[in-house]
Amino acid sequence: MTTMTDNIQDAPVDEERPLTGLDRCDSCGSQAYIRATMGTSELLFCAHHGNKHKEKLAPLVSAWHDESHKLHQ
Ligand SMILES: [Zn+2]
Repeated sequence: MTTMTDNIQDAPVDEERPLTGLDRCDSCGSQAYIRATMGTSELLFCAHHGNKHKEKLAPLVSAWHDESHKLHQ
């Protein structure tokens, strides 16, 4: 069984709408660095929860916007 993780990296990155400090993780309320788009709905995650849910959501998302690299700047 292959994973869908590789497909996420090929998803288009939505750089036109960067996440801001007002965007909050749907799981814990921390600042969101990841946005998962699924059709017309979106989920926001902090880096921790984004990585936690990434594999499970991979088959469902149409775009995976990840700004978690900003944490390391
Ligand atoms: Zn979180």
